Amino acid sequence: MSLVVVGSVAFDSVKTPFGAVDEVLGGSATYFSTAASYFTDVSLVAVIGTDFPEKHLTFLKSRKIDIDGLERVQGRTFRWKGEYGYELNEAKTLDTQLNVFQTFRPKLPESYRDRKVVFLANIDPDLQREVLEQVKQPELVACDTMNFWIAGKRESLIRTLKLVDILLINDGEARELSGEPNLVKAARAILSYGPGTLIIKRGEYGALMFREGRIFAAPAYPLEAVFDPTGAGDCFAGGFMGYLANTMNFEESNIRKAIIFGSVMASFNVEAFSLDKIKSLDYGEIRGRYEEFRKLTHFEDLTS
Ligand code: AMP
Repeated sequence: MSLVVVGSVAFDSVKTPFGAVDEVLGGSATYFSTAASYFTDVSLVAVIGTDFPEKHLTFLKSRKIDIDGLERVQGRTFRWKGEYGYELNEAKTLDTQLNVFQTFRPKLPESYRDRKVVFLANIDPDLQREVLEQVKQPELVACDTMNFWIAGKRESLIRTLKLVDILLINDGEARELSGEPNLVKAARAILSYGPGTLIIKRGEYGALMFREGRIFAAPAYPLEAVFDPTGAGDCFAGGFMGYLANTMNFEESNIRKAIIFGSVMASFNVEAFSLDKIKSLDYGEIRGRYEEFRKLTHFEDLTS
């Protein structure tokens, strides 16, 4: 099965304690699509400006990502500038330039409208709903967001949340969205806004899933070298949704496997700047790291 994603395609300028890059390929939908493309066909909905180079389009096409829904308009591509301290868990946004996203009205190509799995990556919640309205009968809808929209477009975001099955956000965002510092209480409040499943990403501390009164915890892969956490959340979502779209099984046991695939893709992504690591993985490496996650978390029950 294939999935459709709306989100940002961007030029990112990023500084971490280990280096800096200027105007490299980024954006929530770019990271998501690349990670998901190892599992399923991906149809991308986004907008770019006249300054977007052909080589990035060639790359997306090389990952077999359908870019019929990637519109090019007069103007400048979205830009984001961020910085991380030694505590790599939270980006400090230095600058956000919406540029061509300011006037973007997504129009899905006819071929995208019968997709069954939809991911609303981090983007204006108004645009998230506009895309969703054009998909005929989705079976699974998930979404992401960030503090920029929680603070700036809260009402619209709450309207989007009523329409989604799964919300993926990080711990800081969960606290800000719910106004509740304790994550278990924050999760309960957020689930009452609409999504049946909530996944809270906690950077190097892994991820927590809240669903029907149950909690599942996945660790992050213990890496020796982390260069750039930008896009980790989107790659997590890409691995997670890509696996679910591939299997079309939304039972909890399969959602748990999908969380591990999400963690695998995020762990690869943070090993290099931009998409440098995840642009050319092979499925064997992905499966190998999935197995390592299994060993990492295995323990016997008390009777064995
Ligand atoms: P992540 O590190 O997974 O949370 O996402 C990082 C990506 O989000 C970067 O590549 C940015 O281009 C993109 N991004 C940052 N701010 C925004 C925003 N306000 N709307 C959409 N995308 C954004």
